[in-house]
Amino acid sequence: MTGAAAGRRYAILTYGCQMNERDSETLAGLVEAAGYREGQVEEADLVIFNTCSVRHSAENKVYGKLGELKALKRERPGLLIAFGGCMAQMADVRARLRRMGVVDIVFGTHNLHELPRLLAEAEAGPAGYTEAVWDQAGAVVEGLPARRRPGVGAFVNIMYGCNNFCSYCVVPYTRGRERSRHPQAVVEEVRGLVAAGVREVTLLGQNVNSYGRGLEPPVDFADLLAMVQGVDGLCRLRFTTSHPRDMSQRLLEAIRRLPAVCEHVHAPLQAGSDRVLQAMNRGYTRQQYFELVERMRETVPGVAVTSDLIVGFPGESDEDFADTLDAVQRIRFDGAFTFMYSPRAGTRAAAMPLQVPLAVKRERLAALNRVQYGIALAINQQLQGRQVEVLVEGPSRTNPERLTGRTRSNRIVVFEGPEHLTGTVVAVRVVRAQTFTLVGQLTAQEGGGPAPPLTSEAERKREYAT
Ligand code: SF4
Repeated sequence: MTGAAAGRRYAILTYGCQMNERDSETLAGLVEAAGYREGQVEEADLVIFNTCSVRHSAENKVYGKLGELKALKRERPGLLIAFGGCMAQMADVRARLRRMGVVDIVFGTHNLHELPRLLAEAEAGPAGYTEAVWDQAGAVVEGLPARRRPGVGAFVNIMYGCNNFCSYCVVPYTRGRERSRHPQAVVEEVRGLVAAGVREVTLLGQNVNSYGRGLEPPVDFADLLAMVQGVDGLCRLRFTTSHPRDMSQRLLEAIRRLPAVCEHVHAPLQAGSDRVLQAMNRGYTRQQYFELVERMRETVPGVAVTSDLIVGFPGESDEDFADTLDAVQRIRFDGAFTFMYSPRAGTRAAAMPLQVPLAVKRERLAALNRVQYGIALAINQQLQGRQVEVLVEGPSRTNPERLTGRTRSNRIVVFEGPEHLTGTVVAVRVVRAQTFTLVGQLTAQEGGGPAPPLTSEAERKREYAT
């Protein structure tokens, strides 16, 4: 612990994806090891921005918050502001930060481990701007402390970066090329989490399907799933994101076979037009994607398939967009995250001609949502009256009188029940289906108390495997 930091408070502002949420746990662990305690932004001596550059709107939020903190810093000149995440990797952002004069420390996406040193220098010296950002990502740094939020579920990174260079995406530039963690390090992390009470782990990577490239001895994602699911006490295992092009039959077989692995695949289609898919550099056609979904549904009974979808990619015509609507109607995704295309500086798509006007993007997004929400509701309605297997996550945030949990297919279920069920798997009868949520009723067993699922999906798989 540094003497200067003892008793000081920190706050972390996290933007963007689950990877950033996981990185923020490491940032918290690092600054707590340096003597800081968690607090609110208003009272903090150190505010850390963990930023996202995937969409323009996320960047704007960050600049807005920095503007607010500028005023706070004038009142309290000792306040330190550190800035990391994907935005920190971009030279134009760093130039702007230097001009703004609010930020003291900038650290890149693979420089988290350098934060304690940068912090100690900033605490010791006169306020000034320092930065540590990578230009050649090195080896994965293991063993950093993390402050895990107590809970039923936890995220575990299995790889960093991406090699795909989809033409709209900044990730290969801000997170670098793909690097996988050693499987043993992943297994050890999961074992530690389960020992601390975690029941469900989600393995994270930009493209988990290509996990293991370059590792010795050779290992792939199907192998990793089998190793992780062998951790005693782990109830459920999830993963995201899967690039459709890299979805092997071997992986699908593993999802079907391994009892802890949940029957849910998030495999972003992004667009339903071949012309747009090619311009996006996605590496598959709509027909290939249709065939993949068929293969997924054949191999993994009951699998939920979800997607990301982008409208308004440069050059997207009315016909292209109609192809996306058509693909969504044919595939019938269980759920989808839908976005308007957002040009990101430095990507190929940002320089493409025929950028689609905002008003058109808005119309297309609304039309797509109408179709997709209708499909999700119809699929959920098929569950009405049926019993589902729910891992209870705790009281619902919107209504603490109720519990919330998820089915194996990742559907959120809310129902009434005692809080002590948190962390257990219970049977819930679906009484009402909504677009994003199922409302249920706990199934009671004879003599009272909640009933566990009669034959759980995991048990059915175990039977299948034997
Ligand atoms: S697969 Fe494409 S969209 Fe996903 S992180 Fe890599 S480059 Fe970005």
